[in-house]
Amino acid sequence: MTYSKINSSAATGTKNLYGDEISPFSGMCAICIEGCNGLCEIGKSSYRGSEAIYPQPFGKVTAASQKDYPIDYSHFNIMGSASGAKGVEEDSDKAIFTNVNLETCIGKNKSLRLKLPFIIAGLGSTDIARNNWEGLAIGSAISGVILTIGENVCGIDPRSEFDNKGKVVKSPELERRVNLYKEWQQDGYGGIVVQANVEDTRFGVLEYAIEKLGVEIVELKWGQGAKDIGGEIKINNLERAIEIKKRGYIVLPDPLDPDVQRAFHHGDFKEFERHSRIGMVNREDFLKSVEHLRKVGAKYIFLKTGAYRPSDLAKAIKYSSEAGIDLITIDGAGGGTGMSPWRMMNEWGIPTVYLQCLAYNYAKFLDEKGKYVPDMAIAGGFTLEDLIFKGLALGAPYFKAVAMARSPITACMVGKTLSEKIKNNDIPQAVKKYGSDIESIFVEATDLMKEFKEKFNNIPGSAIGLFSYFKRLEQGLKQLMCGARKFALNYIERSDLVALTKEASEISGIPYVMELDREEAKAILEEN
Ligand code: SF4
Repeated sequence: MTYSKINSSAATGTKNLYGDEISPFSGMCAICIEGCNGLCEIGKSSYRGSEAIYPQPFGKVTAASQKDYPIDYSHFNIMGSASGAKGVEEDSDKAIFTNVNLETCIGKNKSLRLKLPFIIAGLGSTDIARNNWEGLAIGSAISGVILTIGENVCGIDPRSEFDNKGKVVKSPELERRVNLYKEWQQDGYGGIVVQANVEDTRFGVLEYAIEKLGVEIVELKWGQGAKDIGGEIKINNLERAIEIKKRGYIVLPDPLDPDVQRAFHHGDFKEFERHSRIGMVNREDFLKSVEHLRKVGAKYIFLKTGAYRPSDLAKAIKYSSEAGIDLITIDGAGGGTGMSPWRMMNEWGIPTVYLQCLAYNYAKFLDEKGKYVPDMAIAGGFTLEDLIFKGLALGAPYFKAVAMARSPITACMVGKTLSEKIKNNDIPQAVKKYGSDIESIFVEATDLMKEFKEKFNNIPGSAIGLFSYFKRLEQGLKQLMCGARKFALNYIERSDLVALTKEASEISGIPYVMELDREEAKAILEEN
């Protein structure tokens, strides 16, 4: 049985001429017939070449792997109990789900307060992040969660200014992203993070963010779960492509080549690719970077690492422990992004469950040796409350939050689409039953109006969409925690899970369902 879906996908706009009649190991139609226009990925590659590598259309979609990994979070179930309560009095009138507390404090000195244990992971220079920033910033700020500005924002900002050493001195786009979040931040909850990759480090982005924009949290980026190469975007303008190449990025095809310029003007291709570089991590440089960032005023330092091989994960945790950083976000393979090479997104790296289990083992090892273990967040396909509970439980007590990117963008995009349709009196049939205005269709709008009064009119539909989605996650998570009899996040533990397969049990150390509570059950049955 194959775990992969090859050669046709909505992500690349390809399909098989003969539908399901395919060779599963190659993804090709069982018969490939002369005369086919080339509907599949091989066919499309025969006329669009490397353009067929990426999910499309760029800037309007997010994409994530279709690979069906052998083990995922569905191989675990959440355990409940018929008695007891931790974090609240053992009283049926008090142990109700609305009394579950989802607030948490993270960081080395536990001074970063979150209303919900969520982080929106790095959303950088892709169009989809830029176009949905209003919703992401306002929605996450009013929800009290962390929002991360991803890589390459200054480098791609056409209005960025640099000094004679190539350091950024002004980036209106980064400024807009930071300030929008700060303007809506409530009572000090959450925080805005600025992330840096190789190019950002060369431009001095973190120094600029700390010194000029008052950013307190910075994140060093080693990688992400969708790919093990640098970030890519598309550029549909020759002058922009030239400018970005001159700023030091890899741009394909070369926009300075006269033949390429002619082909672009002729319409042979419509977009340039911008690629960023891969890092060269080593312990000394990492420790020095952390020390430097503290010196220039960073209050909190995070590390984001991807689905690299286990020894790299061990380095991430060990070096972060030595450097005393505040949070490591670990992003498993299969997570989504705006524009990663499609096959890479499917076929490289360690899937989230495996990666989290390795990270748990490494953290436990250091912990038992009396070493500092930074708080951790897990990323890679988290969307709904059951996944969030499982992510927190499988990594307990080290994983304090779950990082998401695709699903918050989805909530923003849907909120934006519906609010525009409401304004244009073009409400979709499936939504009409809820009403005809923002207040009746968006169920959380009434509470937001009460809280923000006239300022409510400045909250865009995209932010209401994100806030409402987080409200749903909040209630769903509270219900699961209530059933598990855990009334605060710090009570969630690995014993709140059971493995449904022997393999999931072997990977995670979580007991197999038929072995759970065996001794306890026997003792109960033997009682006189
Ligand atoms: S080119 Fe061949 S394999 Fe591809 S869709 Fe057409 S028939 Fe199928």
